[in-house]
Amino acid sequence: SVPLSFFGGIGAASRDGILVKGGNYLEVLARTELVVFDKTGTLTQGVFNVTAIHPDHCDEHRLLELAALAECYSDHPISRSLREAWGMELDPSRVSGVEERSGRGVHAIVDGRPVWVGNDKLMEELGVSWHPCHRVGTTVHVACEGAYLGHIVISDAVKPDAAQAVAALKACGVRRTVMLTGDAAPVGEAIAREVGVDEVHAQLLPDGKVRQVEALLEQLSPRGALAFVGDGINDAPVLSRADVGIAMGALGSDAAIEAADVVLMDDKPSKLADAIAIARGTLTIVR
Ligand code: ADP
Ligand code: MG
Repeated sequence: SVPLSFFGGIGAASRDGILVKGGNYLEVLARTELVVFDKTGTLTQGVFNVTAIHPDHCDEHRLLELAALAECYSDHPISRSLREAWGMELDPSRVSGVEERSGRGVHAIVDGRPVWVGNDKLMEELGVSWHPCHRVGTTVHVACEGAYLGHIVISDAVKPDAAQAVAALKACGVRRTVMLTGDAAPVGEAIAREVGVDEVHAQLLPDGKVRQVEALLEQLSPRGALAFVGDGINDAPVLSRADVGIAMGALGSDAAIEAADVVLMDDKPSKLADAIAIARGTLTIVR
């Protein structure tokens, strides 16, 4: 049976914009010693701006148009930013056979020709080589019919409360904070430094994130718990593997909100420390 005061804790959390899907998760939150964050949309805003366009064998306009067309059906924050940067209407009838390659990018048939838009890993898989590019942000490569067409540089800002969120966790006794990302190491490391997480693992595919969380679960102390916080865009498997899976509610996908045990309704990572404090307060009453 669920002690009555758990309902009090769930109510207090919900007034703070924290949706807890059951009293058992308050008990787990109270024992959190390791917090694993996803990067995009969790510690960063998930809103990318195009900062540079470097065409190789076409012009800038054509490069951006192809990328935006290939991404026209995707919900990924990178796709949204490319469509936004294009800024004009896109005719979806020009696009077919869209396949999302999670943690890598997309493939689509645009005007009858195969187009790939994504990161280094995607290009490596295709056997397409690119010129070394400067990394002041996330690099999005574009290739068509096996030929390299150039890259677009995009960048995402850290959420205003991200550093405070990490500091508050440390202050409430969380021993270790980790960030996982599918993005390149230099981007991941810069953001990790900016927000103050203890360690970062970059260039992970979704199943690599699951394996990393499994390895971290092995390192917990006997009563310690692992919390994973994500926006749920291709991280639903990690959300369910953690002791407590926490999703961003506003930006996050429906699948994530369903897979999560706790939802932060206003997408603020700093609410996690509040949730832990509420959980501990509730348990003190129960005991
Ligand atoms: P994160 O781990 O930071 O939350 P994802 O796992 O969603 O990010 O994506 C990891 C990387 O895969 C991105 O940084 C990007 O390089 C590439 N990627 C994923 N989806 C797309 C897409 N729709 N278009 C282009 N690149 C993508
Ligand atoms: Mg993500």
